[in-house]
Amino acid sequence: MENDVEKKLHTFKVLILGDPSVGKSCFLIRYTEDTFQDVYLSTIGMDCKYKKVDLENGESIRLQLWDTAGQDRFRSITRNLYKGAAGIILIYDVTNRKTFESIKNWVESIRAEVSNKVVIVLVGNKIDKKEQIDVKTEEGDYLAEEFNLPFFECSALTGENINEAFIELAKRLSEIKDKVKDINKGEQLKQIKVDKNRKSCC
Ligand code: GDP
Ligand code: MG
Repeated sequence: MENDVEKKLHTFKVLILGDPSVGKSCFLIRYTEDTFQDVYLSTIGMDCKYKKVDLENGESIRLQLWDTAGQDRFRSITRNLYKGAAGIILIYDVTNRKTFESIKNWVESIRAEVSNKVVIVLVGNKIDKKEQIDVKTEEGDYLAEEFNLPFFECSALTGENINEAFIELAKRLSEIKDKVKDINKGEQLKQIKVDKNRKSCC
């Protein structure tokens, strides 16, 4: 559970993106709750979860993580969802080449919608399905290099490499934190404005 100290940490908006069924919801649930839940429960509606990350340098930040059910075709993502996003976990399924081939489109649409400062981490998920692998590690590496993204092969089922992917994201976010919007601050500012308005009208 979150306490008040955690709520005051610099908070970054992070989106989990990728084609349908690559495992976005499972990935998020594995990271935030350390369990594996199968489809139904995890894909209903739009969900946002908070998670504190402790970095090696002793610093802590907080991630506001958004799952994207129903908006997981890159053309259907709304501007509103992208607004204020500082980080993106972009997932493909290593057993489904089509989802890998979509990554280029995803990166292009992300870069068109969000500022260049956005941190993208590329993830090849379902690495536990060893017999069905359709996209080789080297291909993921190659694509990641082409777009200059950190890259992890993970499994939401076993939990392999999930923390590592988020730690890398958090580390990179913390490095640019002076340039990136703190979600908390945004909320506070809005609050102050509302309060001021109240005063002036009473
Ligand atoms: P989403 O549409 O991207 O949110 O995908 P889901 O999280 O709903 O997962 C789609 C399907 O893939 C479900 O049947 C999951 O159980 C399965 N799945 C997700 N992640 C993994 C994984 O790492 N390994 C395996 N074997 N299956 C996974
Ligand atoms: Mg989902």
